Order: sequence, then C-alpha cells, then structure tokens
Amino acid sequence: MVGAGLSGAVIGRQLAEAGHDVSVIDARPHIAGNCHTERDEATGVMVHVYGPHIFHTDDTGVWDYVNRFAHFMPFRNRVKTTSQGKVFSLPINLHTINQFYGRTMRPCEARSFLEGEADTSISDPQSFEEQALRFVGRDLYEAFFEGYTVKQWGISPKELPASILKRLPVRFNYDDNYFFHRYQGMPKDGYTAMVEQILDHPKITVTLGERFERREAAGHDHVFYSGPLDEYFGCELGRLGYRTLDFERFEYEGDYQGCAVMNYGERDVPYTRITEHKHFSPWEEHETSVCYREFSRACEPGDIPYYPIRQIREKALLADYVDRARSERGVTFVGRLGTYRYLDMDVTIREALDTAAVFAQQGPATPAFVTAPL
Ligand SMILES: Cc1cc2nc3c(=O)[nH]c(=O)nc-3n(C[C@H](O)[C@H](O)[C@H](O)COP(=O)(O)OP(=O)(O)OC[C@H]3O[C@@H](n4cnc5c(N)ncnc54)[C@H](O)[C@@H]3O)c2cc1C
Repeated sequence: MVGAGLSGAVIGRQLAEAGHDVSVIDARPHIAGNCHTERDEATGVMVHVYGPHIFHTDDTGVWDYVNRFAHFMPFRNRVKTTSQGKVFSLPINLHTINQFYGRTMRPCEARSFLEGEADTSISDPQSFEEQALRFVGRDLYEAFFEGYTVKQWGISPKELPASILKRLPVRFNYDDNYFFHRYQGMPKDGYTAMVEQILDHPKITVTLGERFERREAAGHDHVFYSGPLDEYFGCELGRLGYRTLDFERFEYEGDYQGCAVMNYGERDVPYTRITEHKHFSPWEEHETSVCYREFSRACEPGDIPYYPIRQIREKALLADYVDRARSERGVTFVGRLGTYRYLDMDVTIREALDTAAVFAQQGPATPAFVTAPL
C-alpha cells in the first residue's frame, strides 16, 4: 500500500484479514494521510493538521466499519460566515435570508421572495455565476458565493462550470446542519487513533518517512497506489493541477470565535475561513484555543496537493494519464490522489472496501482503476 491514509489503511486491513502479507509505506512521518489529527503539545487541543474533517455518511456499511475502530461522538457541523460586516448562518437557510434582508418571512414567503430576486432572464445557465444568479439573485450571490469562490479556486465564478452548483443551495427552514447525511460524528480520540486501529493487524507492517518509487513495484505481488497519479509516472506528461492550502496557526486564551468554522465571504479578506479546533471536540475542555487561518492558492511542485481542479485542461491530461496507467501491470490506483478526484472520507472507505473485494476475486489481475477517474 503506497500511502497510510484511509485508502491504504482500509485496503491493507481487508487484505490482511484475507491472509495476505501487507506492507504500508508513507512518505510522511505519520499515518492517516490528510485526515491526520494530533494533540497539540502546548494546549492539549486535538488539531486537524491538514484542515477540518467531519465524518458524515448515508452508507450504513461504512458507518459500521468506522465504528469497529473508533468510538464516535455526536457532532453537528454548524458553519457561520462573516460577510458585509455581519455574521450569517450557513448553508443559506431561512435564518440567513431573514437576517440578510431584515425580514421575518415564513418558508413559503421566503421561497416566493427569492424567486423574485432570481435572475430569470438566464434560461440556460452555463457558468457557476449564472447558475447562482439564476437560483438566488445578485445580492446573495455576491455576499455568499462570489468572493469565497474566487479565493478558493483562484478564478472567477464566470469561468467555473454551472455543474458545481447543481441544486438550489438554499433551505427554506431553520436547519443549519451543514451535511444532509444520516450518520455524522467525530472519532473521540481523533482520526489518527482510528487509522492506527485499522492498521493494527499482525500481517501489516508500516514504514513511515519513505517515498515509494515506481521501480520498487516489481518487488511486490500487487501495488495499491494512493499517491498522485501524475507523480507515479514522474509527471512525464505534465502536472495535474491542484489547489493547495496554507494554514496560519495562532493561539487564543479562551474562545476565539464561538464555533468550529467561520467562513469569510469577502474578497478583501485574504483567507477563506478560520477553524477553531477545540470546537471539533466539544466534549473536551481547554482554556487556550488553537486556530487556523486558511489560505488557498495554486499548488506548486513540493506543495501538498489538496483539491483537484478538474477543468478542461486537467481532464484532458487526466485522460492521457489514465491510458498510461491502464498499460501498467500489477498496480491499482486508488483514493483521492490516485484517481484525481475530491473524495469525502466515507466515499474513500467505500471505494477501498470495494477495491479489496475486487482483489479478493481477481488477485493480481485487478485493473488499474476499480473506480474510473473520468
Ligand atoms: C481541506 C480538506 C478538508 C476535508 N474535510 C473533509 C470532511 O470534513 N469530511 C470528509 O468526509 N472528508 C473530508 N476531506 C477529504 C479527506 O481528506 C479524504 O477523503 C481522505 O484524506 C482520502 O484519503 P486517501 O487515503 O485517499 O488520501 P490521503 O489522505 O491523501 O493519503 C495519501 C497518502 O499517500 C502518501 N503518499 C503519496 N505519495 C506517496 C509516495 N510516493 N510514497 C509514499 N507515500 C506517498 C501521502 O503522504 C498520504 O499520506 C477533506 C479534504 C481536504 C483537502
């Protein structure tokens, strides 16, 4: 398993339970990949080192799986946003609409009010901007979508496809739970402790701080590679574009912002959000707080790849790498980097379980991709 994140850990565990000897290698000095959490030495706060992670799923099999390895505490992600000098509730819900317009509308009134705000002259929205204007009108678009999207993706919402905003991003009730899923929670001792339990099997060995190279594949019956697809081939066809994140850490005595995640919708605030980590473990008590200001920018060589861009140029390059990968024998590309897709943790685990099931049937004939990246 190249990578000790959720992909490598879950596939490794399934194979070990089926009797295979499994070596897991990770270039980082820790397991759990981007879900890695660690207890901050100075404050005792459990920190989500690569950005906030909330577990949510509708997949009962995946929920049962993670509960085998960790004790999950109830957690509801309630996000706020600061825009135009005020704090609003996200995702846009009846409270947000009433606050924003200074009204006391009931659900049906808000619905017809927003229909009046929407730009109905746009009949076939092509871009993210047109789609948002068609759904919610200019005022809400500028306050909640425009600046945030420019900061997050580095390009104008005019250049992003309408498909990003598939559904009406508004709720006409006071439900401010960020996720829709049936199961939601936070592992009591963090994600790294959970992954440690997944990897805790006599047939699994873990090597940290070592980078795997393609030429080493020959020494194994089969390789499951959860690193970046382009890097496996030495980026010989070009680099797949990613956004990376910079986190500016600061401490605060007491409660800095009163919630775990505060977004900043405006362009002139350079960061996209501030996360206050102790609020991800509301069952713990800490005097001092650890916060991250989060900045998004283009990923350069040597940076950590976070969000795949998947625009027209990247998809064309991805298609070339997929062809290249399909002609490679004895390796299966998995996970968010191996398949160049944004994957939530539950989807990552589901795909890892499915991949292990395919290997159980096909062995080393397992294809380069169990889930097609395109
Ligand atoms: C900012 C952010 C917030 C997120 N928040 C959530 C959330 O709230 N809820 C949710 O469900 N999901 C969230 N996710 C998604 C979650 O992080 C992924 O689902 C998960 O990390 C995918 O696991 P993985 O094993 O595929 O990849 P990773 O976690 O990236 O693991 C891949 C590992 O491979 C290693 N590696 C790469 N190349 C090599 C090499 N050549 N040799 C050795 N090792 C190598 C890397 O060091 C890394 O540890 C978030 C993602 C981001 C970016």
